[in-house]
Amino acid sequence: MMTRFPESIPVPPQVVAILRVLEDAGHETWCVGGAIRDALLGDQHHPAQDVDLATAAPPAVVRQLFRRTIPVGIEHGTVGVLDDDGVLHEVTTFRRDVRTDGRHAEVEFGVELDDDLARRDFTINAMAYHPVHQTWRDPFGGLDDLLAHRIRAVGDPDQRFHEDRLRILRALRFAARFDFTIDPETWRAATDQAHDTSHLSAERVRDEWIKGLTTARSAAHLATLWVRSGVAATWIPELHAVAPNDVRVDDRDPILVTAFLAAPSAPVWRRLKGSTAEIRRAEGIDRGPRSPGTPEPNVVRRWLADTGPAADDLVRLASWRDDAAAPWLETIAGIRERGEPTHRGALAIDGAQLLEAGFPSGPLVGRVIAVLLDAVLEDPSLNTHEQLLALARTVT
Ligand code: ATP
Ligand code: MG
Repeated sequence: MMTRFPESIPVPPQVVAILRVLEDAGHETWCVGGAIRDALLGDQHHPAQDVDLATAAPPAVVRQLFRRTIPVGIEHGTVGVLDDDGVLHEVTTFRRDVRTDGRHAEVEFGVELDDDLARRDFTINAMAYHPVHQTWRDPFGGLDDLLAHRIRAVGDPDQRFHEDRLRILRALRFAARFDFTIDPETWRAATDQAHDTSHLSAERVRDEWIKGLTTARSAAHLATLWVRSGVAATWIPELHAVAPNDVRVDDRDPILVTAFLAAPSAPVWRRLKGSTAEIRRAEGIDRGPRSPGTPEPNVVRRWLADTGPAADDLVRLASWRDDAAAPWLETIAGIRERGEPTHRGALAIDGAQLLEAGFPSGPLVGRVIAVLLDAVLEDPSLNTHEQLLALARTVT
């Protein structure tokens, strides 16, 4: 096991090239942030792709030194430098926060690397590596915390969370992603201020929640941390105190995972200002019913018709609960294999054809189609144009 920094870690040549340009112009530059942490962790899922650079060069100088730059976050000192392949690399001027109101920070340039590292949230995110000299800078004991599997705030956790409440959510996210514990002082500060996350914008909380769900080793663990810290009481009171069991999440669809961990889930997405499509989808899941209850094909077909577009989501949710072996799941597979109709659009006759056949336009057509669907759900073999037309003529 690693007990001190490795001699070197791989840094993409394009990043090293950018670093050299800056240093040749006389500006100290380091690799910083999450990529360094991930490289030390040997995190195969997150290979050191976007290595952030921190530099003494002021933003205007960074823009002058490279042919193609994009002012991605210029007010915070971040300039995007495009390499020859058009890939963007972030270069941020060493900075220090001079004023914070819990949401926004005003920054000051002309400071040193250690000042820049001091404004970072957690010790494991506050290490720097120099790929040319192969040297390390770790003023806050990030490596020790990494080895101890510990999330610890840089500096005084009360103050750091007060400066930016989003850091509370970030602590939970990193703890769940790496399966680390949160250092007691940091945890206490997080729980003390959990309620103050109410001042954050819904958009930022939503982004954190989604990032958390998609990166957590265990989504249930993330949910537990949100509940125990008190953040859930403020933002997602619908979260179950104890997650039902873990989500075997192959692809962490945030709407589905949230529905698995919280009920009802549509209010969550309304509160987090999700899109209309996301809210609709969550509503469909909430409406249910969760399952057809029995595996009889006609009952299952009816359930598919009732739940409509939510059916696929409900099926996946059911397979995540421990009734993965529920017999009705097999019935659905059969229904789909045989192509049996479970919605109006799959009927062998449509409204236009009914009008052509002489039915008067008006509410009758809708009623007729409802009757036809009902019959076909009961007996799929009725789904032929002739049989349905004949059946339609019996409706008055
Ligand atoms: P991820 O893999 O999620 O991108 P990351 O550590 O790279 O993890 P980013 O949000 O990309 O996280 O931020 C990059 C770096 O900027 C962090 O490692 C941390 O040093 C710093 N940082 C980001 N957000 C904050 C914050 N709210 N407060 C203090 N430092 C922050
Ligand atoms: Mg990052």
